[in-house]
Amino acid sequence: MPGKIPQNPPRSRVAPPFPHQYYRLLQINCAEIAAIIIALGPQEKEKILLRILFVTSEAFPLIKTGGLADVSGSLPAALRNLGEDVRLLIPGYRQVLEKLRNPRILLELQWLPIVGNVTLIAGEMPDTGVPVMAIACPQLYERDGGPYLDPEGREWLDNPLRFGILSRVAAILGSHVSPLANWIPDIVHFNDWQGGLTPAFMRYSGAPCAKSVLGIHNLAFQGNCAEEWVEKLGLPPEAFHIEGLEYYGQLSFLKAGVYYADSITTVSPTYAAEIQTPEFGFGMQGLLATRSEHIHGILNGIDTTEWNPTGDPHLFHPYDTEHLDQKQLIKRELQQRLGLAQNADAPLLGIVSRLTHQKGLDLFLECAAPLLARGCQIALLGGGEPLLEHGFWRLSLNHPQQVGVSIGYNEPLSHQIMAGADIFIMPSRFEPCGLNQMYGLRYGTPPVVRRTGGLADSVCDATEASLEDGSATGFVFDLADRQALLNCVQRAIDLYHDKPVWEKIQRNGMVRDLGWNHSASIYRDVYRSLL
Ligand code: ADP
Repeated sequence: MPGKIPQNPPRSRVAPPFPHQYYRLLQINCAEIAAIIIALGPQEKEKILLRILFVTSEAFPLIKTGGLADVSGSLPAALRNLGEDVRLLIPGYRQVLEKLRNPRILLELQWLPIVGNVTLIAGEMPDTGVPVMAIACPQLYERDGGPYLDPEGREWLDNPLRFGILSRVAAILGSHVSPLANWIPDIVHFNDWQGGLTPAFMRYSGAPCAKSVLGIHNLAFQGNCAEEWVEKLGLPPEAFHIEGLEYYGQLSFLKAGVYYADSITTVSPTYAAEIQTPEFGFGMQGLLATRSEHIHGILNGIDTTEWNPTGDPHLFHPYDTEHLDQKQLIKRELQQRLGLAQNADAPLLGIVSRLTHQKGLDLFLECAAPLLARGCQIALLGGGEPLLEHGFWRLSLNHPQQVGVSIGYNEPLSHQIMAGADIFIMPSRFEPCGLNQMYGLRYGTPPVVRRTGGLADSVCDATEASLEDGSATGFVFDLADRQALLNCVQRAIDLYHDKPVWEKIQRNGMVRDLGWNHSASIYRDVYRSLL
């Protein structure tokens, strides 16, 4: 693949004259930087153009398994809209190299652990034009299967190498000895465990480096592996220590990130507090608590162009707050597609989700009988744990007119369920942010959610008071148990049959500002505070 790509030397960026509206920081020494920053007034500081390397293992629309891809597709674009200079670094999976716009060879990096050389391919995101650098290394990334799992759903055995290389390349590009001398970032924002070794490589490189920010999207995935990987990946043995990379006798990519990053962000304010407690900390709560003052909870935005009921290419009937009746047509098509009874009045409960214990859908399965007895329908799209897949399959076989199940990944159907369902179900045991509940709000499909993480921060429970003041957008319950969930869904169904109130709740959610503008500016403040 890289052989077919036209060679194109790195374009040098013409530095603006100094002083200027924008200043480049890293091509002058630290004392000069400090002197300039102190001399700048608040308004001038605002105008400093940041160079941000955004390191991710997935990004929509190049490749997606979950919410990280959505954020990686939309946050960098929002930061660019604010005027910042962001580039993405991502493994060169086959899909990425195929979808990249205008791909060209940028440079070759040598002396990497085990693999030797990799090629950096430059290109742009197909939709937003955000610049991307993909690491082409066919032996690591160009395989059948997913980014993390093989076609049988097992973790790739060489994941430590695959994402060790991602981290290592990020650290090289984030250092002042980077071969990409005309684009040295101020900030390396790496995400989840897959980028976790980045600040460790930076620390042990001996070179001056960019500031590092770890974005935690889900603490449950930690990238823990055998100690032998420390040496294999070229990290010094002394780094394998409780004050470093070691986590209960293993190398932990995520712990390395938490330990060495200059700053830590996570995807909602509530989750930022939750991860410092034993219930949600997955064993890292103690370390996270010691880093408390460096942790920032910033609620994710959504891509309001991609998720827009007035212009969604996956829907035949666009709608907005004034044309909610169009939703009925989409509901009918969805019923047809899933083989459900064409019943306009049956409350249609939608689910789009990874099927894992985290998402609490086992609790929903336990509630299904009374809900079906009440005349509800269920439309589920998802995949994951076999027990849950079978549970929903069985339910649909027993109630074909009321339960439609599609196992697998299907982007168009996810939009159609979001628009065609009446109520969106998301009873997660924990949820760092969650995007689907926000898509539900935007599509006039009020969500039923558990009060945790980003669900607590984005959905306002319909109570007398919130209905009165116009803030009610959905239905929230506290305990992760069957009865609490069932009561909450029943509450939603009661109001669903009260059309004027229901439409009010739909409209409240649809007009909420769910885009990235506000949150992107908070990210920018975090980056600036590090410089
Ligand atoms: P998580 O990242 O924990 O899976 P989020 O709610 O943050 O959960 O994001 C999930 C994203 O993945 C959403 O964009 C959702 O629509 C999408 N998604 C999940 N499962 C599927 C599926 N089976 N088909 C299509 N999209 C899916």
